[in-house]
Amino acid sequence: MKKIRALALFSGGLDSLLAMKLIIEQGVEVIGLYFDTGFGGKAEEEKKRYLKDIADKIGAKLEIINIKEQFIKEILFNPKYGYGKNFNPCIDCHANMIRVAKALLPKYDAHFIISGEVAGQRPMSQRMDALKKVEELSTADRLILRPLSAKLLPITIPEEKGWVDREKLLDIHGRSREVQINLAKKWGIENYESPSGGCLLTDENFSKKIKDHIKFDKFETEDIDVLKWGRHFRLPDSAKLVVSRNKDENEKIKELNLNKYIKFSLPLPGPLSLINKDASNEDKKMAAKIALTYSKAKPDEVYEVEIGNEKFKTSPFENKKEAQKYFVK
Ligand code: SF4
Repeated sequence: MKKIRALALFSGGLDSLLAMKLIIEQGVEVIGLYFDTGFGGKAEEEKKRYLKDIADKIGAKLEIINIKEQFIKEILFNPKYGYGKNFNPCIDCHANMIRVAKALLPKYDAHFIISGEVAGQRPMSQRMDALKKVEELSTADRLILRPLSAKLLPITIPEEKGWVDREKLLDIHGRSREVQINLAKKWGIENYESPSGGCLLTDENFSKKIKDHIKFDKFETEDIDVLKWGRHFRLPDSAKLVVSRNKDENEKIKELNLNKYIKFSLPLPGPLSLINKDASNEDKKMAAKIALTYSKAKPDEVYEVEIGNEKFKTSPFENKKEAQKYFVK
């Protein structure tokens, strides 16, 4: 008989792991799809290593699906069901993952989709009605199985066809994590991530930076990384300035491949910074002044800072408070 294969929405969080494990236990081959929106956290390489290790541990395969561009274009700024507490469009985001997974079924020769959602568990994405909304939006045609709450939900195609045994699925409901924690213990699943897996869209400060950004500029893929690092300033003529906070951030900013921004350093040891390429000369001069303020430069000395092909002579502010007036709030 042909092997039954499922694609799982795999965030790395405990619920997605348990949902996958429940199905693997039934002899189904599971491929965990991690949807890389770019907002999954700052330590991307670390996250990918973690996903690989934990997927191996439960006997699933891992595929990382880059949806950065599609997510920005179609979901992030126009979610049908709005946002959670911050810039997190969870219902639309889940539905989008299911839609993309559904489109990938033929590629992986897979039969159905698994999601770790639990009925009534979390305020935004997992209320019962939210599950229904996700279903409608995702056009999953009953191909989406939620093993942790399946017994409370209408029967799906994988159950109907006997690919999985509904009796062995669960009926978890609500916010208590007890059943999940006991199952994790039983299967030796340890060191798993928190439910949102560090999604930056649920972070208040990151959300503020997105809101500020879209007031002045189109949001593009490269902006995701720009928003992750450094102190952020909005200058008087509306350019964005990013000033790194430490050596690690200097390295991160150095690695970025950017079209809209120019990187600049100082004529003395200090932060690496970024400013919009099309910033006015006044903003570039202000950027130099602010960046100098975060170095060991002396307020009574004049420094020449090169930004792109231009050179600006300026001194740091006497006090960081002067620079902080331009912080993105
Ligand atoms: S927490 Fe982030 S990744 Fe998870 S559903 Fe919400 S927006 Fe999507």
